[in-house]
Amino acid sequence: MVHTDALVIGAGPVGLFQAFQLGLLGLSVEVVDALAFAGGQCMALYPDKPIYDVPGVPVCTGRELTQSLLKQAAPFLAAQPALPGAAPQHQHLHLGQLVQALEASPDGAWTVHTDKGLSFHARSVLIAAGAGAFLPRGLGVAELEGAANVHHHLPEDADQAPPWAGQHLVVAGGGDEALSAVLAITQTPVAAHRPARLSLLHRRDVFQAEPALEAAVRALIAQGEVQLEVGLPQSAESRTDSQAASPTGSGGREGRHIDALQLLGADGQTRTLTLDHLLVRLGLSPRLGPLSTWGMALERKQVSVSTATFATSLPRVHAVGDINTYVGKKRLLLCGFHEATLAAHALAVALRPDAPSHLLYTTTSPVLHERLGVAPGKA
Ligand SMILES: Cc1cc2nc3c(=O)[nH]c(=O)nc-3n(C[C@H](O)[C@H](O)[C@H](O)COP(=O)(O)OP(=O)(O)OC[C@H]3O[C@@H](n4cnc5c(N)ncnc54)[C@H](O)[C@@H]3O)c2cc1C
Repeated sequence: MVHTDALVIGAGPVGLFQAFQLGLLGLSVEVVDALAFAGGQCMALYPDKPIYDVPGVPVCTGRELTQSLLKQAAPFLAAQPALPGAAPQHQHLHLGQLVQALEASPDGAWTVHTDKGLSFHARSVLIAAGAGAFLPRGLGVAELEGAANVHHHLPEDADQAPPWAGQHLVVAGGGDEALSAVLAITQTPVAAHRPARLSLLHRRDVFQAEPALEAAVRALIAQGEVQLEVGLPQSAESRTDSQAASPTGSGGREGRHIDALQLLGADGQTRTLTLDHLLVRLGLSPRLGPLSTWGMALERKQVSVSTATFATSLPRVHAVGDINTYVGKKRLLLCGFHEATLAAHALAVALRPDAPSHLLYTTTSPVLHERLGVAPGKA
C-alpha cells in the first residue's frame, strides 16, 4: 500500500503538470497511468507533430512537451539519474497500471487499486484521465484475449531477446504502428534477436501508412524478408502451456498459447496461418471503463466539476483536463494546466489547513526554491 497526500490518475500532460503543482504546494504525490509511457495523447497520438499554442513555447512536439513536463515535475516524482542512453526513472510515477477501483476508506481517505495489484491510500484523488485509459485495439477474436503469446508492444529493453527471437512472428495491422514495428524488427541489431520468420497480416493489400514507411516495408516484402498475409482473422486455435513446445524454449510466458489463426480471404475461402507469436499493432483507443462506476456525477461521459476548485461530486476527488466538463470547457492543454493549478491550491488548503494560504511566487519564494531543489535565482 502506497500512502500519499494526492494520487493523480493519468500521466498525460495535465496529470504531469498536476503533479508539479501539488508538489510545489508541499503535498506528496503519486501518478499512475495505464500506458507504458507518460504523455497521454501527446505521446500516443501525435508525438512528432508540432504544437503552437502552449504559452511561452512558440512550437514544440508532443514528445518535447512531455519531456519538458517530466523534467519540470521531476523534483516531486523522485527522478533517478538516467543511465547513458536510457530514460530517467521516476519513483512516484507508476506506468502500465490501469486504475480499476476507487473505494472510500473509514478515515476519510481513498483506497485505489490497479489491475496489476498496486494499491494506494490517498488523502485526495485527482482524475486527469483524458478520454479514458488508452488501451491497445484488438483483432476482435475472443480467443486472443489473455493468450500468453499475443503481444501489443515492442520490448522496451533493446538489449534483451524478445519472446519471438528465432520463431515465427506475425505482426497484425496495416497502419504506421504495424509497419514501423515490422521495420524495427527487421532492423534489430542483434541478429539472434530477430524472428526466424516474419509475416505481416492485414485484411487487404492496401496500407494506411506514411509513404516512406510503406515503401520500405513493400521492399522487404518484395525481397522475401517479410511475408504478406491478406485475410480477416475469424478465430484462433489455442493450446494450454503443458502442450506448448517453444522451438527455442524462449516462448517464455506461461498460460494459453495461440497456435494458428483462421483467416477469411477476399475469395471467401478460410485458411490457416500457423504462428509462434502474434504482435497486434492496430493503435490505441481510449476507454472510460472503470471510471464510470465510481459514483461521480457525469455528463455525457465527462466528469462534472466546480470551476473554482475542479472538485467532483465526491469529497476530495477533483477532475482536470479532457476528462471534465463545465460551461465553456475547451479541451486544450492551456485549460487543463489552469484547472490543475486551481485544483492543487484547493487541495492544499483542505489537506494542510494550518499552512499559510497566501500565494508564493516561484521567482522569489525560498520555500518554493527549497521544494524545487534549486538555489535562488538559478535555473
Ligand atoms: C491530434 C491532436 C492534436 C492536438 N493538438 C493540440 C494543440 O495543438 N493544442 C492543445 O492545446 N491541445 C491539443 N490537443 C488536445 C490535447 O492533447 C489534450 O487536451 C490533452 O492531451 C489533454 O490532456 P490530459 O492529460 O487531460 O489527457 P490525456 O492526454 O488523454 O491523458 C490521459 C491519461 O490518463 C490515462 N488514464 C485514463 N484512465 C486511466 C485509468 N483508469 N487508469 C490509469 N490511467 C488512466 C490514459 O492512459 C492517458 O495516458 C490535441 C489532441 C489531439 C488528439
